[in-house]
Amino acid sequence: KRDQEDLGKLRKAVDELDPKSADIQKFTNLPLSAPTASGLRSSHFEVLTDVQRAAIPLALQGKDVLGAAKTGSGKTLAFLVPVLEKLYHAKWTEHDGLGALVISPTRELAVQIFEVLRKIGRNHYFSAGLIIGGKSLKEEAERLGRMNILVCTPGRLLQHLDQTAGFDVDNLQILVLDEADRIMDMGFQSAVDALVEHLPKTRQTLLFSATQSKRISDLARLSLKDPEYVSAHEAA
Ligand code: ADP
Ligand code: MG
Repeated sequence: KRDQEDLGKLRKAVDELDPKSADIQKFTNLPLSAPTASGLRSSHFEVLTDVQRAAIPLALQGKDVLGAAKTGSGKTLAFLVPVLEKLYHAKWTEHDGLGALVISPTRELAVQIFEVLRKIGRNHYFSAGLIIGGKSLKEEAERLGRMNILVCTPGRLLQHLDQTAGFDVDNLQILVLDEADRIMDMGFQSAVDALVEHLPKTRQTLLFSATQSKRISDLARLSLKDPEYVSAHEAA
């Protein structure tokens, strides 16, 4: 009962947030769940970077976001904080299956994202996995069914969608494409197309890149809904 009331208050605070407010400087100025807030605090993240300030409030409010900001500007937290909050607000549990998918162009970047997720997400009860190949498909497949949040490379994910029986993405709440420009440049267009075919249409989508990428073709293939464009060019 107490938890219900707290979640109600949190949702109301998110709804009432002015995404452009100059008062949002620190993570403590944002209406975040206690586990996310403490995860950020213990990871020593305090002041938001420009892209985080521009993207996180909109993403918390459920908007689709297209964010462009150069390398080193803090894009990882700009999507991981909304991912954790999305599942928390939905009262996601380990029995609810896959709720969030983060797609990264390379294994190395996927590993980095996963490390940050483990740090700031440590006080949540969500299960999280890294699917980047290098292990047998069967080994990965066994872990897949239990994951709430997956960080993966596009090719490997597609392989599982095609070949792993019982890999269910029907409940997916939020899709993130990190380094979307690179994903496209690396020739993963058709993998992304095929992937999006499998995903529910009602999801939230966050797309980040290091370059301004308003290419209509990209938007069409991701079926973004009235996306908010966000860009930040200051250094973090
Ligand atoms: P990008 O994906 O835009 O290249 P990253 O998310 O990898 O940037 O972040 C770059 C660096 O900035 C990392 O070392 C990260 O820990 C640090 N960083 C990100 N956000 C913050 C913040 N709010 N406060 C302090 N350091 C941050
Ligand atoms: Mg990055």
